[in-house]
Amino acid sequence: MAWTDDNILKYCRDVENFVDLRLNEKGIKKTIGGSLSSEGEMKINESWSDPISNLKKEHTKIHENIHLKTQQYGVKKYSVGTKEFNKYWCDPKIGRKTK
Ligand SMILES: [Zn+2]
Repeated sequence: MAWTDDNILKYCRDVENFVDLRLNEKGIKKTIGGSLSSEGEMKINESWSDPISNLKKEHTKIHENIHLKTQQYGVKKYSVGTKEFNKYWCDPKIGRKTK
């Protein structure tokens, strides 16, 4: 299985499953830093309390803002909630074309 194999890693969920599988194999525990819903709702993990937690939160906000740009582009082009928007949102290959 490889990142570039479009037949295997076709949708977001496939990519997440692939990452989970590889991390589990190495015994690495995953934590979620943040998320952005298709409606544009951003969540940042506020439970970090280690010495670099503020840096991690700031990094996550920057990361999620990139997803927000992708989300906003999709809303502008397809309108949120439409079949076309959902296809755009769930297909990482389509999501790259935001310029
Ligand atoms: Zn991300």
